[in-house]
Amino acid sequence: MNDSPLALLGGEPAVTVAGPHFAWPPIEDADRRAVAAQLETSVSIPDRSGIVADLEDALASYLGVRHVVTTCTGTAALHSMYAAAGIGPGDEVIVPALTFHATATPLFHLGAHPVLADVDDRGQLDLEDADRRLTARTKAVVAAHLWGLPEDMDALVSFADELELMLLEDGSHAHGATWNHQTVGTFGAASAFSLNGPKPLSAGEGGLVATDDTELYYRVLLHGQYNKRCRREIPADHPLARFAVTGMGLKLRIHPFAAALARTQLTRLDVHLAGRQRIAARMCAALDSVPGIHVPDLPTAARPSWYALPLHYERAELGGLPLERFLDAVHAEGAKEADQPGSTCPLVTHPLFQAPGDLLPGYAGRQGTAAGAFPAAEYVHATTFKLPVWHREEDVHLADAYAAAIAKVASHAKDLM
Ligand SMILES: *Cc1c(COP(=O)(O)O)cnc(C)c1O
Repeated sequence: MNDSPLALLGGEPAVTVAGPHFAWPPIEDADRRAVAAQLETSVSIPDRSGIVADLEDALASYLGVRHVVTTCTGTAALHSMYAAAGIGPGDEVIVPALTFHATATPLFHLGAHPVLADVDDRGQLDLEDADRRLTARTKAVVAAHLWGLPEDMDALVSFADELELMLLEDGSHAHGATWNHQTVGTFGAASAFSLNGPKPLSAGEGGLVATDDTELYYRVLLHGQYNKRCRREIPADHPLARFAVTGMGLKLRIHPFAAALARTQLTRLDVHLAGRQRIAARMCAALDSVPGIHVPDLPTAARPSWYALPLHYERAELGGLPLERFLDAVHAEGAKEADQPGSTCPLVTHPLFQAPGDLLPGYAGRQGTAAGAFPAAEYVHATTFKLPVWHREEDVHLADAYAAAIAKVASHAKDLM
């Protein structure tokens, strides 16, 4: 295969299977039946009953936490988590400078300030940089577990403990990932997850907050699940019970159809993760010796969810070939799903983080964060491309073909100069 000229230059492509090559979530008859059955049961659930209770019980038991509240999106879950954690006007929260923007944006709607901290060369929160950005207003630090590769939770837990900061997690890439056999989403005061379409656990649209803290749980309910659910779950003699009817005024409930889908997907999550684990290991082994390509350097404590396989591209090893040109050639080989992360990028590149006051009047006059302030986040983003991680044995040939396409382009790099 490697003897054929590059497809970009007129040779035979390495990947000959017609696309699309990757679709998520995998829909089976069990999913179709569950969603159809929900149509006959209830299409709106105002309290914690039916499929919503089923799903939350199953999630709480899967994660190993006391309380789970499902929401309409992951963004809403993050919003509820921050609100319930008592984060308010003027408070500062340390957020990795490289993540999907919704890890941080709900903070703007609480009058709080996301304080970006740079990442290390693996894309994980750099605790020395975080330390430099602490002030008397810093309340919490957020772990993001990008691409489902768990952060170093030993380091993060002791960092938060020593500084008496609340530790919160955005597990949206990392359902079922573990660090030292402990599930992501259980290390801090609370965690939020997206259940959006492509996420490892998918409801189509949805999210959840997980916590062991009952007080925080009541506040999550009051943030986005007002009236019946709050009236039934917050004990009448609790000081917050009098707010039950309105809560904090937002409505962020999950749709029962989405809950039904997530519930059947959850029964297969561990099978999906085990399949991804096998295929990710196979892809890493195949790509490890390819010049210019560096597979993730995983600590032994980390068991990822493999939301994606992020690869570091070292152009110096390929005669300086720019990543964009390399990827053009990879796409021409037929490996269409290889891509540079788009919206998961250095947050300072978004105008909302540079000039929040132009859109959110509460931030008028507040200095945004300047581009260039997070060199490692920008470096990691500019040198990373990612591959999907398949989970089914019958897709192993695709994983192999993608690895072959990348190896072929790397071995022909000089033809592209
Ligand atoms: C997807 C995602 C979110 C937002 O979730 P939605 O369900 O799309 O609102 C937040 N954080 C991260 C890291 C995500 O990947």
